[in-house]
Amino acid sequence: MASHSPTSGALSAEAGPDAAQPQFDTAAIQRLDSAHYLHPFTDFHGLNEKGARVMVRGDGIYLWDSQGKKLLDGMSGLWCVNVGYGRTSIADAAYRQMCTLPFYNSFFSTTNLPAVQLAAKLAQIAPPGFQHVFFTNSGSEANDTNVRMVRRYWDLLGYEERHTIISRRNAYHGSTMAGASLGGMDGMHDGGLPLPGIVHIGQPNYLEGGRGMTEAEFGLLAASWLEDKILELGADKVAAFIGEPIQGAGGVVIPPATYWPEIQRICDKYGVLLIADEVICGFGRTGAWFASELFGIRPDLITFAKGVTSGYVPLGGVLVGQRVADMLISRGGEFHHGFTYSGHPVACAAALENIRIIEDEGLVAQVANVTGPYLERHFAALADHPLVGYANSFGFVAGLNLVRRKAPVLHDHEPFAPELEVGMLCRAHMFNNGVIMRAVGDRMIIAPPLVMTTAQIDEMLALIRFCLDETYVDVKAHGWL
Ligand SMILES: *Cc1c(COP(=O)(O)O)cnc(C)c1O
Repeated sequence: MASHSPTSGALSAEAGPDAAQPQFDTAAIQRLDSAHYLHPFTDFHGLNEKGARVMVRGDGIYLWDSQGKKLLDGMSGLWCVNVGYGRTSIADAAYRQMCTLPFYNSFFSTTNLPAVQLAAKLAQIAPPGFQHVFFTNSGSEANDTNVRMVRRYWDLLGYEERHTIISRRNAYHGSTMAGASLGGMDGMHDGGLPLPGIVHIGQPNYLEGGRGMTEAEFGLLAASWLEDKILELGADKVAAFIGEPIQGAGGVVIPPATYWPEIQRICDKYGVLLIADEVICGFGRTGAWFASELFGIRPDLITFAKGVTSGYVPLGGVLVGQRVADMLISRGGEFHHGFTYSGHPVACAAALENIRIIEDEGLVAQVANVTGPYLERHFAALADHPLVGYANSFGFVAGLNLVRRKAPVLHDHEPFAPELEVGMLCRAHMFNNGVIMRAVGDRMIIAPPLVMTTAQIDEMLALIRFCLDETYVDVKAHGWL
């Protein structure tokens, strides 16, 4: 076959002896990958030495790589494949929309059917008071939109000074300039970030900061840092506070129950807008459509992305509450912001089908009433393992801490030295044994597809326990215990 590009040979799957299991030339794909593809959040040099794992197929909660290895995906891709892989009805919906109208923009007084229908659907499943939506292509763009929207809100009210946004250390809000600035990850604050007008307070991480306190006491303390910061800056300078109901990329940090109601009280007291970044928590992950409903948050704006399409195509946006929407709409004047693909008809059609699946299969209630509580009980039981100092979950996010030596009091567990990278070692065992868990330092986290059954939870936890044993043997052999 005459080849037009250097890639066509290496990347096409040849039917192998078993037609269901195509053969790939993994080494050739890896060579092309390192020759041309700069991966996100990756040490390029390190990856090129090792070679990337090549994912080729997914079905339900499982993935297959180019070498035919089957992996149970405990991370839903990257917190997004809520309805699982292999949903041909989403593909069909996207296909039909592409055939009918693949694209038209929403600028200049035009609209399209899937965007209208999705906006109306989101207003229906959102918490009370959300009747409007602004579409983007990602969570990062949605948070950029938030920054511009809250500043415009205060400008329209005549408070041009009121532009500062308060976020938290170790938060993740995306990787555009504003997203990375809102985020609280030191590694992302290079090259002049954070942008001016974005400041950070401490995170509600009981393990990190709660020594000598009950969780409830610590939750109130962590919330009080917001009030301290507002008073330090002057309330007349503060536009908004942003937070993930549960911090995801920061390591599944589940705040004490006292935290969010107190944050809400403080925002109300000073008139500060509250932005809930529900990019991970939304669309059923916590056992509600939006976690704000469960945490006692009445946000003014909700960021969404990931689960809205289960990752089948990119889509994000901002749910705009009444207070902000009324101001933007009633005052008139153009909001000079938007994207070519805002309200992309194909992405919106895929989202509508994804939401239909979540509704028809009752996945939100299933996580709330059946599989979420089941995961909580059985995941917490991993704390009896000699390496596990603490294991907790909320809905379908969970995390456990690998520790060197356990103590009767939580805050006295002895951690491993960070440079040993025990978390990465454990993660490698997980991958090698067919289960995907992510390491954030020495905290191992999961966010499984919402379709996972109790039998599959058993299967996942058995794999995890086996890999913890393997890690233990390794760590012991290294003399790190
Ligand atoms: C993933 C994520 C984002 C960024 O979304 P992208 O689609 O990657 O831009 C923002 N906020 C939170 C909480 C996220 O987890």
